[in-house]
This record gives sequence, structure tokens and C-alpha cells, in this order.
Amino acid sequence: MNENINNNLNNEASNEITNFIKTEMINDLESGKVKEIITRFPPEPNAYLHIGHARALITNFELAKSFDGYTNLRFDDTNPAKEDEEFVEGIKKDIEWLGYHPKNVFYGSDYFEATYELAIKLIKKGLAYVCDLSQSDISKYRGSLTEPGIESPYRNRSIEENLELFENMKNGMYKEGEKVLRAKIDMAHPNINMRDPVLYRIINIKHHRQGNKWCIYPMYDFAHPLQDAFEGITHSLCSLEYDNHRILYDWVVRKTGVCDNKPYAPRQIEFGRLNITNTIMSKRYLKALVESGKVIGYDDPRMPTLAGLRRRGVTPSAIKAFILSTGLSRINSTVEGDMLDHFIREDLKLKTNRIMAVTNPLKVVITNYEDGKVEYLNVANNQENEELGKRVVPFSKNLYIEREDFALEKPDKHFKRLALGLEVRLFGAYFIKANDVIYDKDGNIDTILCTYDVKTLSGSGFNERKPNGTIGFVEASHARRVVFNQFEPLIEGEVNSETFLESINKNSWKKLEGYVEDGKYNELDRFQFIRDGYYAVDKDSNDDLLVFNRIVSLKSSFKANK
Ligand code: ATP
Ligand code: MG
Repeated sequence: MNENINNNLNNEASNEITNFIKTEMINDLESGKVKEIITRFPPEPNAYLHIGHARALITNFELAKSFDGYTNLRFDDTNPAKEDEEFVEGIKKDIEWLGYHPKNVFYGSDYFEATYELAIKLIKKGLAYVCDLSQSDISKYRGSLTEPGIESPYRNRSIEENLELFENMKNGMYKEGEKVLRAKIDMAHPNINMRDPVLYRIINIKHHRQGNKWCIYPMYDFAHPLQDAFEGITHSLCSLEYDNHRILYDWVVRKTGVCDNKPYAPRQIEFGRLNITNTIMSKRYLKALVESGKVIGYDDPRMPTLAGLRRRGVTPSAIKAFILSTGLSRINSTVEGDMLDHFIREDLKLKTNRIMAVTNPLKVVITNYEDGKVEYLNVANNQENEELGKRVVPFSKNLYIEREDFALEKPDKHFKRLALGLEVRLFGAYFIKANDVIYDKDGNIDTILCTYDVKTLSGSGFNERKPNGTIGFVEASHARRVVFNQFEPLIEGEVNSETFLESINKNSWKKLEGYVEDGKYNELDRFQFIRDGYYAVDKDSNDDLLVFNRIVSLKSSFKANK
């Protein structure tokens, strides 16, 4: 067994995730408490997953994988008020996209019958009772950190009465809030969660899978440990806010006897949540953004949802590398948004073709180039990775360059671009010299008149003169029309949960119109536009008009206040 564990730890392919949870798992394997590692990822299908969920998701899957164990996907659908089939499908798609394959897909609601039976068992043991206090009275009676709670007047109902009332609850004889089932533990317990917590409440809403079969629904604290037990989960990983619920988790497992005939009981281990600066990271707020129409949907490329990141063009491997780099501890952590960008650039640098695009076009006419002639130049796809091969880039008399790459006069010695009287290299092509400009009727520069030098073709070894820099271009007759979407953080300044809907950054989605060199562009193909950044093809593209989303700019414009 020992050797086996060590092998797993040293296995490169099974990922470098090492942390306190892994240590606990090794201990449990070594002591013989468990024979394999079984985890679950339990999202509530009430919205799409966000990048914070990716921490829980990746941790569960990677840890189990590193021990040759497995992970279940379990939809925690025990609150019919908020859940929807759309989210179930969305979450499945996100998990698959990240490259993970749950061994089983379960639904918390599949266990309603078994959970109900165990509630009856608790009643029969004198460990649960039906309580008629209102929700606000229950909170009032609960006491505080410094004061013990007060026992409910319904606490000492007989077992028979409780059984009958609970059955009536199940049969829909009461209104919502009229009655709940509570555990009978200890109203003076130092941990407030142990002061007779609610186990079941009445909800008269149609469930997305169960329809109207049930009108009583188990609370998370009751349902979750039982679901883990039913599935044989060995390690139930959750975020830190459940820390002081662990005692109740263990109570439920023990008192219901759900694991009495099993070799082990599941154990809850908490880890810190991941937050990203200036990023909204709660489903509630993401939902508000969608429902208020401030974004175009959960897959808006500015959203921190996995669906949004995917549409924007972020790769699953960048997300994984980012999440693993943030480590895992028992402290909630906040990382700079810039860090994710760094992992995206690192991931795409050698994988993408570097192509030419012009986001703010300016016409160039090469006056000494033959009319109607087009030549096809061979250009490397990625100067740092030969394996990506070469492509053909057309060149002719009529070109577009980036407007910012031209100035009438060279402003200073740092300006490595085109200006009147100066010569630059067109990337992969010739030197051109700007001789004159033509203005449009509004007095803006419309066209630059240039001459080229045939001797200077890229790769020819020409070294008699040095150009004033190298700029990109797109040949006009082959150019494809493009809308370039460029994004900035969705929320301006600090994210404030009260006012975030009013602090939408008005510049968070900029649309530019220009051209890209001809090529094959399928949805989610990714490219580097040589000096600008990494882009992905959006699903809204068509043959006449391509749409590119900027995944990330080449360099960070963001200054971290370190
Ligand atoms: P939110 O607070 O964003 O609404 P949630 O915790 O209610 O999210 P669930 O669907 O219950 O969302 O989460 C599924 C799993 O993902 C849980 O184990 C939860 O602890 C974990 N999780 C959610 N957000 C984060 C985060 N920011 N960092 C780490 N884990 C997270
Ligand atoms: Mg939750």
C-alpha cells in the first residue's frame, strides 16, 4: 500500500497538486481507514459555474485522480426554488470542457426517499421533532455566541405525535413555514449549528426533476452528509464556511446510522475559497448581472463564469495552471486578476499562429508596385515555434496598416513605426517608405502613398540599410472584415455587493472594425495578433463578417499595487 501511494505522488501525469488534503488522504489510506479515494463535486444547479468553482472542481478531480480514485458529479438540487435544467446542462458542459469525467452523475433529489426514511429513524430514536415555531422565532430562540438558546415549546412532543405530524407535512397538509422538522440536539451547545437545526422544511414549488412529488425538502446540513454516505464518498471537500458545520455533519452520519454497516464513514474537509480582485464571484451577483441585462448572458466574455471564459477564448489548460498555482490552504485567498492573464499568455504563446490584423485601418498604396499583381509570401506561423509551420501571406499594391503605426513626423526616438520620409519593414515582406498622404474631405488622413524596395524582401539577407522598425499589414483584396471585441474589467473599482449593478465599467466592451488576413476561422480558434494580443473567433462570426474576442492583451496594462 505504501509503495503504491508513493508511486502515485511521484506520478507526473497525475498532477502536482500537493496540499494538506492530500496529506490527510494519504494518512487515511495508510491507516487502512479507506481503500480508495472517492470525492464528489456538488454544485447547486441554480446558475453557471464561475472561476471560483473551478478551484473546488479541479481539487476534487485532481486529488482523486492522483490516487487512482474517482469523482462523482452530484447536483445538489434540494432547493426547487432556484434550480433549473438549463444550469444542469451548462454545468455538465463546463466540467467536460475542463477535461474532467465524473464516474457517476447523481442528483441529490434521487435520494429524497432514502433521506426521508432516515428522518423517520431519527424521530423514532427521539432525535428529531416537528416544530411549529416561525422561522423568525426559531432564530430568536437560537441564542447567540455568548448566550445559550431557548428550547422550543414543541421540543417534547411524543414520538408518535412527531411521526404523525411529519407524515402530514409530507402529505401537504400544512402551508410553507407552518412546520419544520428539527434535530433534537442541545439548545445550549457552544456551536450554534447544533442548537436543534432544521432538517426539513415545506416548499410548495415544482421541482425540476421530481415535479410535485415532494413538498418537504431536506436542508443542506441533513441531506449532504447522507448523500456522501450513500455514494461511499471518502473525503467530502467543501469551502471554509462549512467549517463549523462539520460537527453536525458527523452527528447526522452517526445518529442516522447510515454508515453502520459500511467500512468507513465520509469525512468533511474544508479548504479556503478563491477570490479574484475586482471580480464578482458569487452566483447570486452573476445572476443579477444576467437578469438585469447588464451582460449578454452567462457566457458574456466579460463574465468570470467558465462559460464566459470559454467564449472569450481562455483555454482549459490556462485555467488549470492558474488554479493549481494558487495552492490550497485553510485560508480564503484573493489573487490578482492579472495572474490569470499571465497563465493565459503563457499557455498560448507557443500554441497559436501569429497572424496579422488591423484594428483601426489606414490605407497604404505602394505607388511603384505593379497594378493588379499579387505575390504570395511565405511567413512563419510562430517565430518561437517552428513546429507550427508556415503560411502564405498575400502582398500587393493596396494594403492596410494600423493607424497608430503612422505619424506625419517621427515624434521621438522611441517611435519605431512609419512616418513621412521614413522606411519600415512590413512584417515578412518589404521595406516601404512613406512619401505623401491623401486627406479625406474631413481633413483626416485617408491614404499613405509609399514606395517599396524590391531588394529588401524578408529572408533575402538584405542588410545595406536598417528600417525604422517593423509593422504589420493586411493585403486589401484578400482582407476579411472583422469586428474586434476588446474587454476591460466589468466592474469599475472595488467590487461592492450593494452597488455593483451601478458600477458597470462603460468601457468594458469596446468594438473596433478592421481587417484580418485571409484564412480559416472556426469558432474558438485562437490567434496572436502580432503586436496586440491573443484573440479567439466568436460564435457570432459569419462568412462576411468575422468576430474576434480579445482573450488577453500582449502585455498587462494593469498595475498591481504591490
Ligand atoms: P456562490 O457562493 O458563488 O453562490 P456556492 O458555494 O453557493 O457558490 P455551490 O454550487 O454550492 O456554489 O458550489 C459547489 C462547490 O464549489 C462547493 O463545494 C463550494 O464550496 C465550491 N465553491 C464555490 N465558490 C468557490 C470559491 N470561490 N472558491 C472555492 N470553492 C468554491
Ligand atoms: Mg452553495
